[in-house]
This record gives sequence, structure tokens and C-alpha cells, in this order.
Amino acid sequence: MFLRLIFLFLLFYLVLLVVRFFQSLGQSPPANRRPPDPLPRKAMVKDEVCNTYIPEDEALKENKNGRVYYFCSEDCRKKFLESRENR
Ligand SMILES: [Zn+2]
Repeated sequence: MFLRLIFLFLLFYLVLLVVRFFQSLGQSPPANRRPPDPLPRKAMVKDEVCNTYIPEDEALKENKNGRVYYFCSEDCRKKFLESRENR
């Protein structure tokens, strides 16, 4: 009688394991479900004066002869304008 109780308990435990196994198959863990965040892709623009690249939204802009020039700082913008005037 007591042995049969243990047997029933083991059987119940096995069913529980099988159910859990199928549940884990149905739903992947939350860590793997989310795709990795894509890297923020900012448009990089070139500073014509010091030849460095800066993100477009941080760059200073100057429109000359229908072309937009980008600068990393006010100094570079001034240098560019001065060199343009001397030409
Ligand atoms: Zn610069």
C-alpha cells in the first residue's frame, strides 16, 4: 500500500517534469527573445578644415555655393570662411 503511494507520487512527478519540458519548449527564455538593440547609426559628416568626422546632428553647418559644409567647432567654421574669402 505504501509502495503504491510512492509509485503514484513518482508517476505524478514524472508527468510534472514532462509538462514543464513541453512548456519550456513552447516559450523561449525572455533573455533570448529580445533581439539585440541595433547600434544607433548616425550620419557622419566630414569637417573639411580639420578632416574629422562628426555626427551630423552635432555638426555646425555652413551653406556655401549651394553646398552644405559641416564643422566640428566654431573655430573650424571661422577658418573655413576666412580661407574662402582669401581665395
Ligand atoms: Zn574641425
